[in-house]
Amino acid sequence: MHDLKARTKLVHGGVRRSQYGEMSEAIFLTQGFVYPSAEAAEARFLDASREEFIYARYGNPTVAMFEDRIAGLEGAEDAFATASGMAAVNGALMSMLKAGDHIVSARALFGSCLYIVENILPRFGIEVTFVDGKDLDAWAEAVRDDTKLVFLESLSNPTLEIVDIAGVSAIAKRVGAQVVVDNVFATPIFQRSFELGADVVIYSATKHIDGQGRCLGGVVLGSQDYIRGTLEPYLKHTGGALSPFNAWVMLKGMETLDLRCRAQAESALALAEALAAHPKVTKCLYPGHSDHPQQALAMRQMEAGGTVLSFEVTGGQAGAFAFLNALEIVLISNNLGDSKSIATHPATTTHQRLDDAQKALLGITPGLIRLSVGLEDRGDLIEDVKKALTAVTV
Ligand SMILES: *Cc1c(COP(=O)(O)O)cnc(C)c1O
Repeated sequence: MHDLKARTKLVHGGVRRSQYGEMSEAIFLTQGFVYPSAEAAEARFLDASREEFIYARYGNPTVAMFEDRIAGLEGAEDAFATASGMAAVNGALMSMLKAGDHIVSARALFGSCLYIVENILPRFGIEVTFVDGKDLDAWAEAVRDDTKLVFLESLSNPTLEIVDIAGVSAIAKRVGAQVVVDNVFATPIFQRSFELGADVVIYSATKHIDGQGRCLGGVVLGSQDYIRGTLEPYLKHTGGALSPFNAWVMLKGMETLDLRCRAQAESALALAEALAAHPKVTKCLYPGHSDHPQQALAMRQMEAGGTVLSFEVTGGQAGAFAFLNALEIVLISNNLGDSKSIATHPATTTHQRLDDAQKALLGITPGLIRLSVGLEDRGDLIEDVKKALTAVTV
């Protein structure tokens, strides 16, 4: 399926049809598999092909369809699906690292990613250097001859800072460090991280890939050597497998992924335009809008600005809460990439755990709102947000 365009791969990629010729992908809701003979069981344990399965923790036909579909879209040799985005991040990092290793990580990370890198890895003797992800000089200074990998989110949460992946990759490659990219915010539709130099790409499928708020899931993509040689042994024995039912939901989500992401990104840009000039908005951050300090880099690296924007309202936390409570269409929640638009107050929810100094360092101010833009009518959304801003009285 190499020469086909993304939309075609999203609909047809990875399909394994049973003898019944079903149109919709089958859910193989089975833990185990039956062997035609004792010899066949022995042979499969010795060396199972990609079409032979042993136990659902190791692999499953519905899960394999999802893995092959996303690997085909991303242009990766292989993929391993996981129970959640965090199982993917944990599996990718733990499978590559051992005591005594050194890694460099961007400081602005999704809360649970930060917990793994800051709290868990050091407990196992892994040394971590944090850098300001947008500062290439800081990466160059932090990466050492013995650095094993660099870890970053291509667009940071919630301030949508952009890491120059090609730049960081060039620095990492000089010392042979692996480049691990959590690409959730940029989406597989808008950014081709492997082409920019990534060695390993991670998604929380819970976000845009499901896109309709149903299931947790995740996936790690990379070379066949890495996925089958390094990652699979770790994940199949530690139990982070994706359920076949959730894999099926993700397969169905992928069929509309391109359409949804593009529609949501267009609405996000329209909202950024409406908000940037608004008197109650002191700052509006959308990678596709000229107010974003890194718009040029964003547009070099991504096809569109993504589906999330962040903005700061006047009046600090009181202003932010007044805005949130006045919304009628946009929901207060913390997922993103959903067909329903979602507003989040990072300072008191997703980033509550950070102290004031850490919040300030990451730009998480009391008035900051993160808005994940959904599939509702664009005009209705703009009106809802503008109306809610009238509730901000300072
Ligand atoms: C949501 C998210 C994760 C974790 O994914 P789950 O599916 O919730 O485990 C990791 N990284 C980023 C950037 C995310 O947005």
